[in-house]
Amino acid sequence: MSIDNALLQRAESKCELCTATDNLSAYDVPPVTLVTLDNSVLLCNSCIEQIEDPDKVDPNHWRCLNDSMWSATPAVQVMAWRMLNRLKAEGWPNDLLEMLYIEDDVKKWAMADKSIRSVEEPTVDCNGAELIAGDSVILNKDLYIKGANFTAKRGTLIKSISLTDNDYQIEGNINGTRTVLAARYLKKA
Ligand SMILES: [Zn+2]
Repeated sequence: MSIDNALLQRAESKCELCTATDNLSAYDVPPVTLVTLDNSVLLCNSCIEQIEDPDKVDPNHWRCLNDSMWSATPAVQVMAWRMLNRLKAEGWPNDLLEMLYIEDDVKKWAMADKSIRSVEEPTVDCNGAELIAGDSVILNKDLYIKGANFTAKRGTLIKSISLTDNDYQIEGNINGTRTVLAARYLKKA
């Protein structure tokens, strides 16, 4: 796919998050209503892969946000904010989030992401511990997974969950299937 010249210029032909110079492509920051330069960022394959597949996230890769979160481009700020939120469990992203200044309307855009909600009621596990995107959890009972037609055993570890619009449910990968699970059957790992 050819990349828009204006985008290449803005990004100085580097990944706008990690400054890699290989395997770059335009990434339309969701939710995509209109594909414009303002809604696109130039990203490398490694960043895109990790943005799209929570199982592949390497927290250390995202140390790059330390620099790129200061970008003047709102679409880059949005992606930086979202990834920092996903990685909150690591600790250091919280420090960066505290320093990160983004305009209110940019923040609204950043929060329009399924994996991050504006949380009033936290999602909690069977012990009442708050669950956040990126957490790992353990099943505390055998669960029959409809659709995938198998039973996930008690003790199954589910890595890198994401939150849903429902306070009582999370999403996680079991046997490679993205599955919605009731938080009360889970224990934070
Ligand atoms: Zn990158």
